This record gives sequence, structure tokens and C-alpha cells, in this order.
Amino acid sequence: DVVLDLRGIEKTYNKGTPGAVSVLSGVDLRVKAGEVVAMVAPSGAGKSTLLHIAGLLDTADAGQVLLSGREMVGLGDAGRTTARRREVGFVYQFHHLLPEFTAAENIVLPQLANAVPRAAAEARAAELLASVGLTERAGHRPSQLSGGEQQRVAFCRALANEPALLLADEPTGNLDPATSDTVFGALMALVRDTGLSALIATHNMDLAARMDRVVRLDAGRIVQER
Ligand code: ADP
Ligand code: ADP
Repeated sequence: DVVLDLRGIEKTYNKGTPGAVSVLSGVDLRVKAGEVVAMVAPSGAGKSTLLHIAGLLDTADAGQVLLSGREMVGLGDAGRTTARRREVGFVYQFHHLLPEFTAAENIVLPQLANAVPRAAAEARAAELLASVGLTERAGHRPSQLSGGEQQRVAFCRALANEPALLLADEPTGNLDPATSDTVFGALMALVRDTGLSALIATHNMDLAARMDRVVRLDAGRIVQER
């Protein structure tokens, strides 16, 4: 089973103007069920653009995006939003947690937006927090948590709605090396426990080495690295 299937993806910013920037020029990439793929590339290579297209936050100029076998390119805005909420979890370098809500509430809210009953959403939040060792921090606000704890909560939020695919953009890029290692371990454990597929952009070759497969984004195309 292929969870993410990108075919011939092309993207140029400011197309048709003197400032046109060609970023992706025929990206082909597949992520199979349960597979964790590292994407390495220098800054500016187009990692964020590719992740946003894969996660239906941005559109390609050409090519196909299939999530769990379904073609996404023809969908309208409403269909894309629904598919994104059901299929995809995002993690960024910065946690983007809501500051006025507790750790648990930050994991409950996206579930309520997906019409999950409150009791079930709270139970799932508690279970996710326990799995990353943060049961004692459930009632804390983001400002009361360390950087590594904030990021672990962000992982839980990304998995709240049981997505098929996790897309992560430098998920430990803001952390010091030791914390980064521990927090990445927590992310991998979560992903493995749930059998999730993931595409994780990173500069960190040690982290990339811990994933199933490594691809490089080079001159607008995906090259198999390992
Ligand atoms: P990465 O995540 O690998 O650093 P990005 O996908 O953010 O790369 O950006 C790739 C290239 O596209 C860069 O040259 C960047 O300046 C350019 N770019 C990104 N977003 C836009 C935009 N909205 N408008 C114009 N150029 C953009
Ligand atoms: P960077 O890639 O520069 O580190 P951030 O980590 O701050 O950026 O992430 C902000 C990105 O979140 C923006 O580029 C934006 O495209 C993206 N985004 C927009 N809408 C949503 C959404 N509904 N959910 C998740 N991310 C979103």
C-alpha cells in the first residue's frame, strides 16, 4: 500500500514574471504504509514547498498527489481541507501550540474540529501524552514546558486525529543536540507504535540514518540516497 504518491510534481513561484523561481521540476516520491522516509536537502532546496504540496496546504503547477490511493489534485478547497484533516499530521520546527490552552487541550481541540466527542478526545489526548512520558505535564501551558516537552506535545497533536501520514519539517531543528536525540526517539516510537507513514525533512544525518530510507531533494528532483 502506498500512502503518499507524488508524480511529476512541478512548482515555480512567481510564474510568468521576471522573478520566477523554479523550485520543483518533476518530483516523483512514494511513501509506503508504515515507512519512515528522511528527506535531506540544503536550505532553500524546496523541502517546505514539497511538504506543503504533499499535505495539501499548497498546490503544484503540474503533477499528481495521491493520498491513500486517492487523487487530490482535482479536489476543491473544501475537499482538500477535509482530506488534509483526515489524512495528514504536520510537525514544524516550531511547535505552534496555542499558548492560552494546556498541553492536553492542544491535543483535544483538533479532534473536536473533526467531530470527535469530547470524552473520547480527552482519553486520546491522555493516552498520547502518556506515550511520550508527559502525563504529569497535561495541565501545563506551553510556556510552562521545556522546548523538548513542547515539541513532544506538538507530535501528539499531529497524531490526534489518527492521520495516515505524518509530514515533518525539521521537527527537532530548534533543540540542542542531546534534547533533539531524545525527542526524535519519542517521535519515532510514536510513529512505530501507530504504524504511521512519515516523510521527515532534516539536516541531521544521524537522525536520517535512523529512518527506513533516505532521499535527497536535489535540483528540483528526488534522488534515492539509501
Ligand atoms: P526549504 O524548505 O528547502 O528551505 P522552500 O520550499 O522554503 O525551501 O523554498 C524553496 C525556494 O522557493 C527558495 O528559493 C525560496 O526563496 C522560494 N520560495 C518559497 N516560498 C516562496 C513564495 N511564497 N514566493 C516566492 N518564492 C518562494
Ligand atoms: P518554516 O517552514 O519557515 O519554519 P513554520 O514552521 O513557522 O515555517 O510553519 C509555518 C507554515 O505553516 C507556513 O509556511 C504555512 O504555509 C503553514 N500552514 C498554513 N496553514 C496551515 C495549517 N492550517 N496547518 C498547518 N500549517 C499551516
